[in-house]
Amino acid sequence: MATVRALAIPAAGATVEPATVERRDPRPDDVVIDIRYAGICHSDIHQANEDWGPAIFPMVPGHEITGVVAAVGEAVTRFAVGDRVGVGCFVDSCGTCEACVAGLEQYCAAHPVATYNGRDHDGAPTYGGYSERIVVRESFVLRIPDALALDAAAPLLCAGITSYSPLRHWKIGPGSRVAIVGLGGLGHMGVQLAHALGADVTVLSQTLSKEKDGLRLGADRYRATSDEATFDELRGGLDFILNTVSASLDLDAYLSLLRLDGTMCNVGGPGDPQRHLAYSLIQTRRNLAGSNVGGIRETQEMLDFCAEHGITAEIELIGAADVNTAYERVLASDVRYRFVIDIATLA
Ligand code: NAP
Ligand code: ZN
Repeated sequence: MATVRALAIPAAGATVEPATVERRDPRPDDVVIDIRYAGICHSDIHQANEDWGPAIFPMVPGHEITGVVAAVGEAVTRFAVGDRVGVGCFVDSCGTCEACVAGLEQYCAAHPVATYNGRDHDGAPTYGGYSERIVVRESFVLRIPDALALDAAAPLLCAGITSYSPLRHWKIGPGSRVAIVGLGGLGHMGVQLAHALGADVTVLSQTLSKEKDGLRLGADRYRATSDEATFDELRGGLDFILNTVSASLDLDAYLSLLRLDGTMCNVGGPGDPQRHLAYSLIQTRRNLAGSNVGGIRETQEMLDFCAEHGITAEIELIGAADVNTAYERVLASDVRYRFVIDIATLA
């Protein structure tokens, strides 16, 4: 066991404070990673506040991790000391169920082992990326392409893959009319990725305050959802809506924007039950769906796609002392477009 510095939340709703956690000695198939950067995902805040139900405390959040390999177990073949690597939302899965065999570990029938606020197969709580070091099985470690800076690449491990996976699953490409709802961490990745895949992209944001950024990131148009005219203009015209909003929306209003057989995919995870009228789907055979991050193979594909297309996250790099303020700013939709913690400031 090794004791490492971390940032932890001691109890539900409490603020982040310095702490230490124990990391296991590497097993034969483990990679020991010196963490350099950890992104702040809105999911960190949902879980710290128990928006999704009871959580495990103390909690060390962080599932957008990049760093450098510090040591490898003797059976590790794909990584060596000094390699630039990443870890996303889960660090293990059963490996044998239908989903795992298909490379969709995020849908593991036995539930994947979450990077934090989860329990490893031996029952030990997992601790995430707001820490100096993590020990992860080789098959759950990603390679960060040389073209991507380690700090700006961190958010790709969750915000990037959570946007990429549904865009690929619903075969978004040239000719697709896509709307991205919410220009936060996930949304700003969704805009870049949908644009790179060749789609016509509309951003639906609460106001026009980030319009310039949205257009620069690749949107073809930017509309405010506070303006009724937006819904009149776009009604029945979209093939696909990626909803990245962390709060409940008027689903009927958004579903009305879909054409025949169109799909609205929710990736945003508000804690409240979501409601919609049956006829919002029935009327033109619309689909309401959800999507959970992405599998390991697809995450590597996304990282390579981002490197090839010059896509990365736009980040505000912060020190360990600024995390609580960053949480407040995320909750106020005041993020452009991802806070990333410089782990060197934990020292
Ligand atoms: P974020 O950076 O806070 O972005 C969310 C955006 O939603 C905000 O920037 C804002 O965009 C919009 N928004 C916030 N409150 C709103 C409200 N009351 N009404 C309308 N729009 C609102 O959050 P994130 O890190 O991108 O995460 C977004 C959601 O996805 C969270 O719920 C998170 O837990 C979830 N998530 C899910 C997965 C998954 O696998 N499915 C993975 C990661 C995260 P505008 O200012 O542009 O309106
Ligand atoms: Zn996340």
